[in-house]
Order: sequence, then structure tokens, then C-alpha cells
Amino acid sequence: MASTEENPNLSDETEIEIEDDDLCPICRQLLHRPVITECSHTLCELCMTEWVDVSVTSQMTIVPLNEQPEDNISAMANLRAKCPMCRTMTSAKRSLEIEERIKGKYGGLYEKREEEAAREEEGKDVSIETLTVYIGNTVVPPDLEDERGLYDWEFFVKFSDTSVVNEVEILLHETFKKPRLVRWKAPFSVRRLGWGVFVIRANVILKYGYSWISSDAEDARNARKISLPLEWELCFDGGGSQARCQLKIKNERRLARGSAR
Ligand SMILES: [Zn+2]
Ligand SMILES: [Zn+2]
Repeated sequence: MASTEENPNLSDETEIEIEDDDLCPICRQLLHRPVITECSHTLCELCMTEWVDVSVTSQMTIVPLNEQPEDNISAMANLRAKCPMCRTMTSAKRSLEIEERIKGKYGGLYEKREEEAAREEEGKDVSIETLTVYIGNTVVPPDLEDERGLYDWEFFVKFSDTSVVNEVEILLHETFKKPRLVRWKAPFSVRRLGWGVFVIRANVILKYGYSWISSDAEDARNARKISLPLEWELCFDGGGSQARCQLKIKNERRLARGSAR
């Protein structure tokens, strides 16, 4: 364009027009660390992480009762969630092919974008973590000689990282004497005797500064998306049952950068 000749201070980069296909549909900037979804959407890695809709129901998977949170930390790669663009269940993976193409095509502009992203991340003090949640119950069936026929069950919620959990509120069937219980530290569980199965509700409330990246999360105590309601139907078969959910949390704790105390 003629402007380059008229104003020699303008660098070539300002003249580069980014093609539509190379723009992230979420941030409308040049794709940065592009990921491609199964539904063929291309987004920045960070945009995908932040906007993907991780709902509890889409994540709940029945797993063996003896599986522990520690066993499963690397399973993040298989995280399936709703695409922020088309809302279908999908997963995303980094595309180095697209990244190389964009780097080759836009050169300095991509470098600038990378610097910007790094600066943004630093300024925001935001990080995104995966939290594995197990919910379930164990059960001991009634003794044959016991006429009351009471099942001895224990409901539990377990986390791969308990340091982010402030409390778990457990809501039992209203026929129990104390149907509402709050657990402030592990084990987040309750043991009772009962005849029948019912749906137990558990609200997992995070510490201040953390929030759930999930469409199911609710606001509480003037904090956004801090509470996650979970449901579990008691299981009296075998020794019980448990389900695993892989969820994402956002950490917005201010790190008091530079304020030497
Ligand atoms: Zn983006
Ligand atoms: Zn999609």
C-alpha cells in the first residue's frame, strides 16, 4: 500500500492483514498456540482452556471403587467437554502444523502475539488447573439375623487436591435426623444406616480466589461460580460404587507481586 512509502516509520507488520481463517473465533486475534477440536474448530490454546464448557454430567464416569485420585492425574489429555463454538462434545489437541504455517506466514506478528500472551498471563495472575473429583459410596449389606435389614453405607467426595476446597455441604434425604452436614476437611464423607437408596446432593465450595469452569457452577457468598452442586444416587449393589469427574478450576488469587513484605 502507498502509506508505507509516505511514512517510512511504519513497519511492514502493520500492513499485514490477517486472513479470517487464521483468526481465533474467540479473541479475534492471530491464532496463538492453535488447537484443533474434533468438530474442526481452530482456537488459541488459552481461549479453548478458558471457554470450554466442562459440565459435570458430561464428565461423570463410573470407575472401580478402589481407584484413588492420585492414580489419575495424567488423564487430563482425554478431557472431553463442550466446544465453545458449536457446543458439541469434543476434545482438542495442539496443532503444530497450523502453528508452523502461521509462524511462516506472519513471522514477526506471531512473535509479538507470543510476547503479548506471556505478558498478559503474568499480569493477570490467573491459572487454570484440573481437579479430579470422585463421588460415591461404600456399603455393607444387612446381617441376615438383623431383622431391621439396615444397610451400613458411607457416602464420600474425594479430590486430587484438597487444598482448593473450602467445604463440602452434604444434603441427605429429609427423613434423616440431621439431613444437612458440612465437612470442612477430608474425609468429606458421611456414614449412616438405612433401608433404601436415594439421591444425595453435595455442594463443593472452593476457597476464595478459585472458581469452577463449568456451566453447572453457582454463585455463592458474593463469589462467582464458587459452588458446584453434585448428585449421587446411593448404590447398594456389591460393595458400592463411585464415579470420576475431571473438572477445571480457575485460580485468580493475587500473588501480591512486587510488594516486598
Ligand atoms: Zn484466541
Ligand atoms: Zn465445535
